[in-house]
Amino acid sequence: MKINELIFATSNPNKVKEVNKLLPDTVQVLSLKDINFLEELPETQDNIEGNAIQKAETLFQLTNKNCFAEDTGLIVPALNGEPGVYSARYAGPQKSDKDNMELLLTKLKTAENRKAYFKTVIALFIDGKHHTFEGRAEGQIIQNPRGAHGFGYDPIFLPEGLDTTFAEMTMLEKSTISHRAKALKLLIKYLEQL
Ligand code: IMP
Repeated sequence: MKINELIFATSNPNKVKEVNKLLPDTVQVLSLKDINFLEELPETQDNIEGNAIQKAETLFQLTNKNCFAEDTGLIVPALNGEPGVYSARYAGPQKSDKDNMELLLTKLKTAENRKAYFKTVIALFIDGKHHTFEGRAEGQIIQNPRGAHGFGYDPIFLPEGLDTTFAEMTMLEKSTISHRAKALKLLIKYLEQL
């Protein structure tokens, strides 16, 4: 592996820890905080890929450092892909997980097709060139929230083939099958063959 340092466009230390655990010791991932980058990165695109690329590209242009960014959304085909790129603020700018879930359950009240999937896109910028990696977790939206772990839409998301929601799993269990983990594994595979 030629890359020995990568900046992760996040200020969430847990996400950085998770990536560092998966990567070999020869590459170190640093957060925005670690490099004293305090500006907010723009996320103004109308799709998940676009936002991941926009964040990583802005960071690369401002720091000239190899970096990556991720963006995630929940996609419900019966609602034409909602909440999608607007997952965090679906019910409004207060970004309340509870309000977002309530709105989604209301909109799905009469729907027969309750299929949904989480999609994570990671955009990597190395020497100015970008690559994207996508991970998905397929499942369905149940009628009533279950479980107390996780965040976001986890209590109403039942992964395909399982009978526990993401919020009823431990973080470790979720991290072996999640959309984010799948995208991360592809990123790591790519970095390892450089
Ligand atoms: P972000 O791009 O990771 O900030 O995710 C945007 C929004 O998607 C979050 O605010 C959550 O509402 C939702 N989301 C992302 N990942 C997950 C997950 O693993 N479980 C449940 N909801 C998620």
